[in-house]
Amino acid sequence: MAFKICSIASGSSGNCIYVGTDQVNILVDSGISGKRVALGLGEIGVDPTRLDGIFITHEHSDHIKGVGVLARKYKIPIYATKKTQQAVLNYRQIGKMEHAHFIEIRPDENVTLKDMVIHPFRSFHDAIDPVCYTFLHDGKKISVATDLGCYDEYIVSKLVDSNVLFIEANHDVKMLEVGGYPYFLKKRILSDVGHLSNELSGHLISSLYHQNLSHVILGHLSQENNFPELAYEAVRAVLMDCAHVDHERLKLFVAGRNSNSKLVVVG
Ligand SMILES: [Zn+2]
Ligand SMILES: [Zn+2]
Repeated sequence: MAFKICSIASGSSGNCIYVGTDQVNILVDSGISGKRVALGLGEIGVDPTRLDGIFITHEHSDHIKGVGVLARKYKIPIYATKKTQQAVLNYRQIGKMEHAHFIEIRPDENVTLKDMVIHPFRSFHDAIDPVCYTFLHDGKKISVATDLGCYDEYIVSKLVDSNVLFIEANHDVKMLEVGGYPYFLKKRILSDVGHLSNELSGHLISSLYHQNLSHVILGHLSQENNFPELAYEAVRAVLMDCAHVDHERLKLFVAGRNSNSKLVVVG
């Protein structure tokens, strides 16, 4: 019984994550072209016509750019909250889309597709109604949490007991502070509704660590304010300070901006 996750693209230039079982294939967001999605899925042997749904986190263009094409070409249902649906329809470059393309989800309410349970939950981000997701199959749990400026007990309670975590490590705070972004943008990214820094990401992972957490994938890295090596080392440094984390066993890696990550198979 395979339960798997593969990041097809991750970062401010476009996000798309595949999660699947033997019976169900879904995407979290599609902020890249339909062509790139098809290529990425092809590399892991998934036919895009077999996608059962695209679960949208929020309406920022790096998460929805490719949604219209996929919905029309492959007739894939788009799962999103009511407010996010409207925001996607209002996005000018989405192309021809209508309410009939969507299926409504609500935070904290499970969606069951055959052998997979999808659980959306609220996150802290400057979008109309942002959510993150956990996925359950055969007693195992995969979680995807990006685009969150901070986390609280509610978010930790949703992510707890994950076997695989896909977590944002967006920026290095010092790089962001001294970098070339305009002041308002720096302030936005650092705010509670912006993005998680490498350090905060490390602390969140540390608080979620348990013996059955096998893989942590770091994603949504800023192109301007982070490097894959830096994100990896910063998170690792936080975890190294935590006596309860088994560094030898935990597999930590960074998802590529424009290429497939490793396909992680759980259980
Ligand atoms: Zn966003
Ligand atoms: Zn984003």
